[in-house]
Amino acid sequence: MAYVIASPCVGEKAADCVSVCPVDCIHEGEDQYFIDADTCIDCGACEAECPVSAIYYEDDLPENEQIFKQKAIDFFKNN
Ligand code: SF4
Repeated sequence: MAYVIASPCVGEKAADCVSVCPVDCIHEGEDQYFIDADTCIDCGACEAECPVSAIYYEDDLPENEQIFKQKAIDFFKNN
């Protein structure tokens, strides 16, 4: 289980989450940031910090944002 960055990050990329992550698992993609699910320790620090509420606990990810889970998996597969 991990946290997922969803659509509000696209084009926004505020990056406030990056500096609060204790395990440095938030990486910059072309149009948004991504959380590495293999490294995330589910601390929730990023979720509280995001100014556009783009970050969800995986179980709480809305149905219309599910695609962002796969987008993160694809990002870390290719980077
Ligand atoms: Fe990093 Fe914690 Fe957010 Fe996971 S939940 S990405 S460990 S800040």
